Amino acid sequence: MEDHHTEPRVYHRLDSVEEVEEFYQAIARDRLTQKLSPERPYCYWTIETYDKSNGIRGGGGLGVLAADMRRVAEQLKVPFVLVTPFYPWESHQKMENMEQIDYHTEKNYEDFGFNFVDTVRIRTAMGSVELDVIEKQLGSSRFLCITEPNFGELYSGESGSDHRLYQEVSLGFGGYQALKLVGLRPAVIQLNEVATFFAAVARLDELVSSGMDFYEAVVYTRKHTLYTNHTLVQAAEATFHYDQFERYVFPNIKSVAVRRWLKDKFTDGTIRLSTPTVEIAELRSGVSKLHARVANYHDINGAKIKFKSVTNGIHLRTWVLPEIMDYYHDHGVLDRFDLPATRDFEASVEKISAADIRHLKNLGRARLNEVLKHRTDQYGNTVQIPEDAFLFDFKRRFVDYKRPTLPFNDPDRLADILERNNAHYILAGRVHMGDSNMFGKLMDTLHLIDSHPVLKERVHYLPDYDEELGLALSQGANSSINTPIVGLEACGTSWMKDIANMGLLISTHDGGVADMPSDNYLTVDGKNEEQETENLYRQMEVAAKAWGNDFDLEYWIHREIIAYMDVCSGCRMMRDYLNFLF
Ligand SMILES: *Cc1c(COP(=O)(O)O)cnc(C)c1O
Repeated sequence: MEDHHTEPRVYHRLDSVEEVEEFYQAIARDRLTQKLSPERPYCYWTIETYDKSNGIRGGGGLGVLAADMRRVAEQLKVPFVLVTPFYPWESHQKMENMEQIDYHTEKNYEDFGFNFVDTVRIRTAMGSVELDVIEKQLGSSRFLCITEPNFGELYSGESGSDHRLYQEVSLGFGGYQALKLVGLRPAVIQLNEVATFFAAVARLDELVSSGMDFYEAVVYTRKHTLYTNHTLVQAAEATFHYDQFERYVFPNIKSVAVRRWLKDKFTDGTIRLSTPTVEIAELRSGVSKLHARVANYHDINGAKIKFKSVTNGIHLRTWVLPEIMDYYHDHGVLDRFDLPATRDFEASVEKISAADIRHLKNLGRARLNEVLKHRTDQYGNTVQIPEDAFLFDFKRRFVDYKRPTLPFNDPDRLADILERNNAHYILAGRVHMGDSNMFGKLMDTLHLIDSHPVLKERVHYLPDYDEELGLALSQGANSSINTPIVGLEACGTSWMKDIANMGLLISTHDGGVADMPSDNYLTVDGKNEEQETENLYRQMEVAAKAWGNDFDLEYWIHREIIAYMDVCSGCRMMRDYLNFLF
């Protein structure tokens, strides 16, 4: 008997019962309404949103977070405005001869229920640009978007390019004018990464040019601005040149004092947006405990920036199989706010039986197979995963630090694990345009799979990774693999979708996973990549075996849910932000 078969530890999910009661009261439009109202909402600025049903496709976790923030706000009736671009073009991927081919599709906002409001203008040294303001109300929340036919697609051009700066300026200054246009005043502004910095500048400029003393305006803006950082290393951030600011930024600032303030933030003719952002935002947060601790940012004087941690959560009602959500509510696991129940949470989780888990996961498998009917693998074929087969997945952006190819370090070993356990493996992800290193690694992996009879039968690569696939895999896979190089993942949210859907998580101890001790999931550790690979294979065996053993299956699923349900809950995230902001 292994030593992990001891009683699960009990964690304090919430700081105190009083705090939860307070949150409930606030949500029940008691305290919160004094700070937030439909005319004075929580304003969330983001360059990326991942919400396919509303016509906006993102690139990864940053966009999923923004979409989930709005969904949680809608669920909790928090007055909330998501200010984001509506991109007229969207990128997709398909496979040809095992190479990823990028292509683009056009999007019309009318097709997604947006209403045209009016136009606003931003100024550049070359002339002014007219932006359409469009909106869509969803309960207490709304999308407020700016767009124009030449806006391009998400992350088009190099970071640091003129076009990116144009997009960021449009979102900041244009988005702020859009807010005025629809008659709103921000109670707070949350900046989802520095690409949204110009929203805070627009606000500062408005205050100063309407007569407020510059320093007073800075203090006021600082108090009501929250900067959420997702990047660990400041040096990795793009830089802009002074002449780019002359062309795109300064023409939009009315106040001489604000312009002067911003000019002072240049060093040797270049600027990183985080430098003025940390000055204009008194509230700063990182997206997991670990990330908030290790994010290495300095202000212009070289002083280290402190970040508070507000770990990302997910909108459970979006990402969890409806039958599993009903089960959690009916069995006292989640309360009506989708937070872990305050009474008997652990005891309720421990009553989840292996039979229930298998039944619910089979429903998830059926859902996955439905989605797979209209998707294709690397050969252009559709894939169906048999109900009695165990399914591993790796689904996330194909970037080097996430190590999508780690399980292929020893192809025969992987093949052996899959074959002996009647297991399949789905690999889903997209390579960023221009990432030739990962483009090559993906191709090599696909050739490797092609040349190995067992892998060819049991490993399926699905291109054009998106929300639909992310959702279906979380629901229909039994075990997911999340192995970023430790120290490089800010939070990650895919693993939350897996845990909340009763999957067995195999992960390195990084990002939001490291919010809780590593004995709560199938951990992959090691001093070097060789050891980590070895431990990954071992944990894959443990996961596959656990599926066939009631005791082990219950043990791991209970443990994961007890430790992480609070972390995963998007309503918990909203509560944390509201507590931090007000
Ligand atoms: C959940 C999700 C993400 C976030 O993934 P992480 O890498 O875990 O942060 C990215 N893309 C899609 C399509 C998702 O569904």
